Amino acid sequence: MSDKVHPVPEGWAKRAYIDKARYEADYRRSVEDPEGYWGEIGKRVDWIKPFSKVKNTSFAPGNVSIRWYEDGTLNVSANCIDRHLATRGDQTAILWEGDDPADSRAITYRELHEQVCRFANALKARGVKKGDRVTIYLPMIPEAAYAMLACARIGAIHSIVFGGFSPDSLAGRIEGCESRCLITADEGLRGGRKVPLKANADAAIEKAGGVDTVFVVTRTGADVPMVEGRDVRYEDAIAAASPECEPEEMNAEDPLFILYTSGSTGKPKGVLHTTGGYLVFASFTHQLIFDYHDGDVYWCTADVGWVTGHSYIVYGPLANGATTLMFEGVPNYPSTSRFWEVVDKHKVNIFYTAPTAIRALMGGGEGPVKKTSRESLRLLGSVGEPINPEAWEWYYRVVGDSRCPIVDTWWQTETGGILITPLPGATDLKPGSATKPFFGIRPELVDAEGKPLEGAAEGNLVIADSWPGQMRTVYGDHKRFEETYFSTYPNKYFTGDGCRRDADGYYWITGRVDDVINVSGHRMGTAEVESSLVAHEKVSEAAVVGYPHDVKGQGIYAYVTLMAGVEGTEDLKKELVAWVRKDIGPIASPDLIQFAPGLPKTRSGKIMRRILRKIAEDEFAALGDTSTLADPGVVDDLIEHRQNRR
Ligand code: ATP
Ligand code: MG
Repeated sequence: MSDKVHPVPEGWAKRAYIDKARYEADYRRSVEDPEGYWGEIGKRVDWIKPFSKVKNTSFAPGNVSIRWYEDGTLNVSANCIDRHLATRGDQTAILWEGDDPADSRAITYRELHEQVCRFANALKARGVKKGDRVTIYLPMIPEAAYAMLACARIGAIHSIVFGGFSPDSLAGRIEGCESRCLITADEGLRGGRKVPLKANADAAIEKAGGVDTVFVVTRTGADVPMVEGRDVRYEDAIAAASPECEPEEMNAEDPLFILYTSGSTGKPKGVLHTTGGYLVFASFTHQLIFDYHDGDVYWCTADVGWVTGHSYIVYGPLANGATTLMFEGVPNYPSTSRFWEVVDKHKVNIFYTAPTAIRALMGGGEGPVKKTSRESLRLLGSVGEPINPEAWEWYYRVVGDSRCPIVDTWWQTETGGILITPLPGATDLKPGSATKPFFGIRPELVDAEGKPLEGAAEGNLVIADSWPGQMRTVYGDHKRFEETYFSTYPNKYFTGDGCRRDADGYYWITGRVDDVINVSGHRMGTAEVESSLVAHEKVSEAAVVGYPHDVKGQGIYAYVTLMAGVEGTEDLKKELVAWVRKDIGPIASPDLIQFAPGLPKTRSGKIMRRILRKIAEDEFAALGDTSTLADPGVVDDLIEHRQNRR
């Protein structure tokens, strides 16, 4: 891994909320006295009835229970909207950029209030009440945020399903939480192409059953069939509704939303987040990690269908009174300069995206970036996968003009918010490392038997104590919650990720524990071999898995996507093997390399190694659930050109 250090840039320590000394002092306090620390931080949101208890959590086997601020009451939508009206009613809350660059809109806090109240009343008019589950299947349009906040306002629990998911995936998620109400649009629009959302929703409802109300937002104006008595035009419903809606008083531990994990590793789980602790944690992390100050324009490119969109497009930023940009489109439409054109158009100061986007843009070279100004940018962020040092440096140098710190934020759907991350005014950066724990977070590394590892070490990443944003249960299946996260290492939350800690106490996520390969007795994270391959000038992306090997136990099988225009020859394979051998050592040199024009990815852009493992094992008959793949077609090509035929 890269050993380069980028010190905190001059000026940052002064302007940022947190500098080095403050980080050390507050971190110590936050883990030594979580009660006192989170008691103070909890006051950052508006409570209807203030809490008197702060933390009541147990990771004990058979008795896992997580409660924060349990006797307080509040409403999330009031915190995200109403409390800003007096001071910033006319400030832009949501800056919406459509798929078509000619299409954009600014929504003020006052307008947001009216829209959310109207929709909340429209939901009520259809009999939706506190505790009911509402499935949201929308494109990235402002109505997605209105829908979330309207649910929160009346105490309904939303479950967002990414607009790219198939009718089957949607049906499974509707059934999973027994939603009676679905919110969708006629069609979505991404990269100039239409997505038949209403048609998908109809197919899903037919399969799942139980849905008695469907709100249909008009996005493209397509002529979609409406089912009498069930389907309601969103525009008609809000026109008929009152613009005032009293927020429901919610207990801190009442559910806010269910979100099914992305499914990189198997059957999606309905992750449940609650009201008080989640909001405190999302808003606090958003403010400090992105160093958000009043007036900043903040852009997270995620979709609201992922947890990143929940915590860092909607709830965190709006609770902080921020201007949050919401983007309907894709990075390469109409051209591969789109991200940077949007940055210039809206004078974006803080930009948060995923390594998969950075690697894809890297493949297109510096030109499309450098022709834009990007001078408004101050801070960059990354989330979703380990960012290879090569991609990190490109992001830093080409996108940020070597001026903007990068916060590489490690977290999960389950964690509700960011747990391991740099703070831009406090943390010297090491490309490829998520660096240090956030306040209140106690990461530990354990070996396979659960023995804690001290100092510089590599092992399984666990978290020793709870934090307010932690998921509370798997919806309807507390047993699965305990088994999945608390049974492998008793009394610890098991993240499922492998991790290395260096001598400076920096954390380096090495990939999922399931992805660790064992070659002749040497354990290796796949991320390390992938980073080495990606560092080669002809490689744009790589995915590495293990496969059974007679001599070594496991062999290394590398799927490699080449830069545009590069031909995949046998000579190039030899060159790549020699490259990795020189870079990491003979133990890491790939046994088999397959050139792959595309890799199987989830809709959020993560490589699905589960499928790659099967193909590498020559066991492609049983690939398992592929319904969450972005492009199932790539799998056929991979099978056809597989390198291990037994
Ligand atoms: P599933 O749990 O259904 O298999 P998933 O794990 O992909 O899906 P998410 O919760 O969206 O669903 O992703 C969390 C995972 O993403 C982490 O456990 C980690 O493996 C990876 N990850 C997220 N951010 C980072 C980061 N900054 N560095 C390294 N890995 C990251
Ligand atoms: Mg996961």
